[in-house]
Amino acid sequence: MKKLSLIISVYNEEAVLEKFYKAFCSIEQNLEYGGGGYELIFVNDGSTDASMNILEVIAQQNKNVRVISFSRNFGHEAAMIAGIDHAAGDVIICMDADLQHPLECIAPIMAKFEEGYEVISMVRTSNKSAGAIKNFTSRAFYRVINALSDQVKLEENASDFFAISSRVADVLRTNYREKTRFLRGYVQSVGFRKTTLEYTAAERAGGASHYTLKKLMNFAISTIVGFSDFPLKLGLYAGAVSFLAAVLFAISALCGFREYKVILAAFNVLFAVLFLLVGIMGEYFSVAFAELKNRPIYIVEKEINSGHCV
Ligand code: UDP
Ligand code: MG
Repeated sequence: MKKLSLIISVYNEEAVLEKFYKAFCSIEQNLEYGGGGYELIFVNDGSTDASMNILEVIAQQNKNVRVISFSRNFGHEAAMIAGIDHAAGDVIICMDADLQHPLECIAPIMAKFEEGYEVISMVRTSNKSAGAIKNFTSRAFYRVINALSDQVKLEENASDFFAISSRVADVLRTNYREKTRFLRGYVQSVGFRKTTLEYTAAERAGGASHYTLKKLMNFAISTIVGFSDFPLKLGLYAGAVSFLAAVLFAISALCGFREYKVILAAFNVLFAVLFLLVGIMGEYFSVAFAELKNRPIYIVEKEINSGHCV
């Protein structure tokens, strides 16, 4: 008998929430859910539209629907962490509210748990709604992080759609409380019996994506910082190369080399490299500083139906 916790992050999703709940209700009867009942945990990440009102109505109709509402927007990662923190299920599935993650995948996920798997990464076969640029940059991002990091090998096209056992959730709750987070990286690096399932990402059921290019860039940089120390070591290599160049210049100057334009150009390159390295160190410093400040990952303002599930 396994109980299912379905965690859905919600940020300004008034266009899709009712559709999502209707779609869930239509598959509810068809699914065994491991026989232990279920809870739907909607994490309202500081929505400013009517999302919370819609969730309140749904939660009134169905006591297995729990709502955790943040005091403001803390981001998708924080919303998933809060959902995992509050989940009471034996199987915990994180998914988006926009129906891009098909609810039909729940049954095969539960089947994998019956086989004894504890971590299931859902891998996108294709992302219909994402353009060629997003698909390309996403692939490039995974290649870079895998090349740089010796701590973790991430599944290409891994998504924020994944399932974990309560044992894995406990590890995340107690040991992965970093302020700059990359949950799908943690999920793939905790170990345990792990498998992947493929899915085809559907079109967004309504509304628009919240991930702007700027957000994605920041996300990519902080993930590389979180999973690799390699960029920090670049200074050492750059230092060695420029030291060699300096020695060569000194020797050529002694031999009568007077091409100041070449020397100036070399200085410019060196300064650019220096600033780049300062920037890289700044990124690491800002991640370390966030840890030092130790501010909360999220703040809960309101909870509905807590502890009410079957
Ligand atoms: N989301 C969130 N907080 C945010 C941004 C997004 O909880 O600050 C939720 C959003 O409601 C959705 C999921 O995270 O359920 C994924 O967001 P979105 O669909 O915009 O991203 P995409 O699928 O385009 O990458
Ligand atoms: Mg989406």
